[in-house]
Amino acid sequence: MAFHRHAGPGSYTVGTMSERFDCHYCRDPLQGKKYVQKEGRHCCVKCFEKFCANTCIECKKPIGADSKELHFKNRYWHDNCFRCVKCYTSLVNEPFMLRENNKVWCSNCTATEDAPRCKGCFKPIIAGDQNVEYKKMVWHKDCFTCSQCNKVIGSGSFFPKGDDFYCVSCHEQKFAKTCAKCKNVSPSDLQRQLAFKLLTLTIRAVRS
Ligand SMILES: [Zn+2]
Ligand SMILES: [Zn+2]
Ligand SMILES: [Zn+2]
Ligand SMILES: [Zn+2]
Ligand SMILES: [Zn+2]
Ligand SMILES: [Zn+2]
Repeated sequence: MAFHRHAGPGSYTVGTMSERFDCHYCRDPLQGKKYVQKEGRHCCVKCFEKFCANTCIECKKPIGADSKELHFKNRYWHDNCFRCVKCYTSLVNEPFMLRENNKVWCSNCTATEDAPRCKGCFKPIIAGDQNVEYKKMVWHKDCFTCSQCNKVIGSGSFFPKGDDFYCVSCHEQKFAKTCAKCKNVSPSDLQRQLAFKLLTLTIRAVRS
């Protein structure tokens, strides 16, 4: 995953004018005053905000001479607006990801957002979580449970049946044909089902 660092402070310099320059726009004398220099032009702080300032892509307001500006790939932010869209952490000194709608994301929130979701608890499966996968569905190891008795199947044997998963003993009770006389599961039936459907999943650990 490619995280970025912003391209640093603004594309202009702010200072106090010591020479006899006038504002490029309003022609007010700048000497002794705060001024902005951008692309070779000198202007007063007011004109800068009016005519030259970049617009913050987050709050849509001009980034005036009194604010700190950050830029990345021709997009500009107030340093205060440069925050993770999810957790609101400042990313001024942090790696970030620029995603849809020009929103910036911290690395933590990116990892959580992009993580696959557990089919049991619907929470993301993140680095370090043990998980099992079946037919492109994924569970935390402890969320993969028997539909009947709710015991954790994890990497144990199970039978899939529609959207349900049964541990071996529940499956026998529920579906195997039993002998009318002794109530035992008919061995041929059990074997047929075992051969066809008994599955085990391998537990994997997500690596970061
Ligand atoms: Zn001016
Ligand atoms: Zn802003
Ligand atoms: Zn975040
Ligand atoms: Zn889960
Ligand atoms: Zn069970
Ligand atoms: Zn019998």
